[in-house]
Amino acid sequence: MYYSEIMVRHGELSTKGKNKMRFINKLKRNITDVLSIYPNVHIRSDRDRTHVYLHGTDYQPVMESLQLVFGIQALSPVYKIDKNIAALKKAVQELMRELYQEGMTFKIASKRSDHNFELDSRELNQVLGAAVFEVLPEIKAQMKQPNVTLKVEIREEAAYISHEEIKGAGGLPVGSSGKGMLMLSGGIDSPVAGYLALKRGVAIEAVHFASPPYTSPGALKKAKDLTRKLTRFGGNMQFIEVPFTEIQEEIKNKAPEAYLMTLTRRFMLRITDALRERRNALVIINGESLGQVASQTLESMQAINAVTTTPVIRPVVTMDKLEIIDIAQAIDTFDISIQPFEDCCTIFAPDRPKTNPKLKKVEAYETRFDIDGLVARALAGVEITEITPEADVDHVSELIDQLL
Ligand code: ATP
Ligand code: MG
Repeated sequence: MYYSEIMVRHGELSTKGKNKMRFINKLKRNITDVLSIYPNVHIRSDRDRTHVYLHGTDYQPVMESLQLVFGIQALSPVYKIDKNIAALKKAVQELMRELYQEGMTFKIASKRSDHNFELDSRELNQVLGAAVFEVLPEIKAQMKQPNVTLKVEIREEAAYISHEEIKGAGGLPVGSSGKGMLMLSGGIDSPVAGYLALKRGVAIEAVHFASPPYTSPGALKKAKDLTRKLTRFGGNMQFIEVPFTEIQEEIKNKAPEAYLMTLTRRFMLRITDALRERRNALVIINGESLGQVASQTLESMQAINAVTTTPVIRPVVTMDKLEIIDIAQAIDTFDISIQPFEDCCTIFAPDRPKTNPKLKKVEAYETRFDIDGLVARALAGVEITEITPEADVDHVSELIDQLL
């Protein structure tokens, strides 16, 4: 017997009342993106569940891809059976023979959504239970917590049998909480920040500042590879590359070294905020972690954040580096993040950046720049690419062990 379908139970969204269908449609869209690597798979959603029809695709990798998608509570692989009693009996017997171990208990839980079917659910339980005893006389029926529960469902088009339910990633469907711009460097922290925002349903567009020729194509590829890793949790993602060379050279030439970092960050935030507005996002997300480096003191955050009133979400702000690394390893971004390609901030980083920059001074230095012109030119040069999931099923089972 081979699985014909994976049945997806929706997560927290089932409590959302009349927004429910909007949530379900988001989840369906996300599942469709994530499973686009399996061309034969077909997806259909109704109010209660999403059905993933395998059409001959091996169920294991599809199952593993689904286990990473946020907004899924549980998953059951399902057998499709002809809708007649003889076929159902035969299937139940075959399946229980496969599953049987000494001392095993079982129950049949039938449900009839096609009310024209000749037996009701109680009668079905009896007939199919008896069929199991025919081939396994020693097996015991048990209503409370049996070892195996065979769920039998009679639907319009066919009958379905499932016997296991596997835990999903939980969280909210990506996009159900709106959209944010993720400031994505090549480092360890920002992909983790992105993952945590995705988990609570925030759709993300990745914004990456590149300063060629100071930064290499390798650094850019790294940021794109990190983005691709993040698509496994909720589908395709826009990657926005911002040309930052002119701004970094200007800052280097015109501002005192101790303030390079603060000024650089303020430009990044201004540009990200402008992109946010253009692309209808609500918040900015970054990977700042308190006290990790000089630019991440509270004074520094205040001086940088002063360029906008847009909420800046910092999912890893209170985490220790080791906690962040644990997550980075679990989501498989760590090995990419530690590849030795310097990003723009590392190259232009001063030896001793100010840990308590004064806003008055920052603003005085900024009068030396044509801020609007610099920002406008950077915005005019952005390049946007859509990043889609890749088939890297090798790693997935390990991830699932760590994440669930
Ligand atoms: P990360 O590990 O995410 O690089 P970090 O500890 O190196 O973080 P910083 O270099 O101070 O910290 O950067 C703080 C945050 O600023 C990053 O987490 C990221 O959100 C953003 N950022 C830094 N450099 C870039 C860049 N080149 N493009 C986009 N965002 C960036
Ligand atoms: Mg960094």
